[in-house]
Amino acid sequence: MKACLLKAPAKVETNPLEFVEVPAPEPGEGEVLVRVHACGVCRTDLHVIEGELPPRKSPVIPGHQVVGAVVKQGKGARRFALGARVGVAWLHKTDGTCEYCRSGAENLCDNPQFTGYSVNGGYAEYIVAPENFVYPIPQGFPDEQAAPLLCAGIIGFRCLRLSGIKSGGRLGFYGFGAAAHVAIQVARHWNVEAFASTRDARHQKLALELGASWAGGTFDEPPKKLDAAIVFAPAGEIVPAALKALKKGGVLVLGGIHMSAIPSFDYDLLYQERMIRSVANNTRQDGEDFLRVAAAIPIRTHVQIFSLQDANRALNALKNDAIPGAAVLRVAQ
Ligand SMILES: [Zn+2]
Ligand SMILES: [Zn+2]
Repeated sequence: MKACLLKAPAKVETNPLEFVEVPAPEPGEGEVLVRVHACGVCRTDLHVIEGELPPRKSPVIPGHQVVGAVVKQGKGARRFALGARVGVAWLHKTDGTCEYCRSGAENLCDNPQFTGYSVNGGYAEYIVAPENFVYPIPQGFPDEQAAPLLCAGIIGFRCLRLSGIKSGGRLGFYGFGAAAHVAIQVARHWNVEAFASTRDARHQKLALELGASWAGGTFDEPPKKLDAAIVFAPAGEIVPAALKALKKGGVLVLGGIHMSAIPSFDYDLLYQERMIRSVANNTRQDGEDFLRVAAAIPIRTHVQIFSLQDANRALNALKNDAIPGAAVLRVAQ
């Protein structure tokens, strides 16, 4: 099969992914083989490719927002019929036995495996995944529009949940890429007032189109105090600015897997019971709940489509803020 292979982490400007022919994987026990139709490009892929996340497997095929069709069932796999349209996301597998898995927090599993990081991902024509970690994709979403739902969408949804935001509340987004452009649609559906702080004018424009009441620069103070804010941009210097925008008791959610160092700040910014928390991965329940909500709204993702062999170009565009919405690799029809 054709695949984009990362042999060693390097800056994306050096076009580190090699478009090569590799053997297609075979589904093991309880796994399905999926013919990839589309794969979303996520900021986490950038962190994997540039080595900000320490390598877990090398070489590796990145990509963890996969939409495709089941074409083969491994031994004992019978959850999905052949031809079923499915999604494969970041959480490839958990051990199911650690204290976190047993307490309903499998996103914090002690022995997790991640798609496109510790196992091969979806920048390829085929992928294998345990059927119990695969999602049915609701009808109504074309393949390319569905792909960004699988990480940007699900993680954004978990961020919304952990922010505790309620109907009538005010929510800030710091960074307005793929995740925020989906999360704002859920927030607006919940009657939440949205504010977007982002450096790129195209992203500010998209935020306003999607119902933000205000959009400004990353460090511009929103016109009203916020009940909660979500930081999607991987820049630690945003944290003090976002804390400053919160009301007393406000919640700041950090949605990324990697962030540059957070500068020190005065205790006053945190006092009055403001709270900072990170989001790590997601549970399958988050994914199932989000896909149901996404279909009901329905969410409309803005995508820019690249061919599989143009993955390096897509990653460079993402790094340069040149994607309004989400980048998606079209692999097959
Ligand atoms: Zn576990
Ligand atoms: Zn992701």
